[in-house]
Amino acid sequence: MTPKQREDFLQQLLALHAELTGKAPMRIEPNRTDEARVGGDEDEQPLNEMMQTIASSRNRNTDGTLARVVKALGKLREDADSFGECEECGEEIPMGRLKAMPYAEFCVACQNNKDGPKGPVRRKHLTDYKG
Ligand SMILES: [Zn+2]
Repeated sequence: MTPKQREDFLQQLLALHAELTGKAPMRIEPNRTDEARVGGDEDEQPLNEMMQTIASSRNRNTDGTLARVVKALGKLREDADSFGECEECGEEIPMGRLKAMPYAEFCVACQNNKDGPKGPVRRKHLTDYKG
């Protein structure tokens, strides 16, 4: 990976970090109160609710992503050479995957191994079966 590519990923991660921590333009605004209403803004309320719905579903989808973004930023700062390497097998994560997901921790093969064919497997503890 070239320093330029690293710089690009750093910028991308910083932008993601800003978005996930609510510093991006799309953040949840409190609903307006009727007291503050000025004539002619009736159309804004449904839009505001729609934006809240989008923002909250985005927040659900990004569970855990922020932590990975922070981790990736830490790598870039402290051990830039390790950025872009699979944490499992040490192979370089393909550039296309990193561009789509600069916070990726694993290569495609290792990610698939972790997820399994049907997604993450939740195993019961053996103790669950004891009387
Ligand atoms: Zn791997």
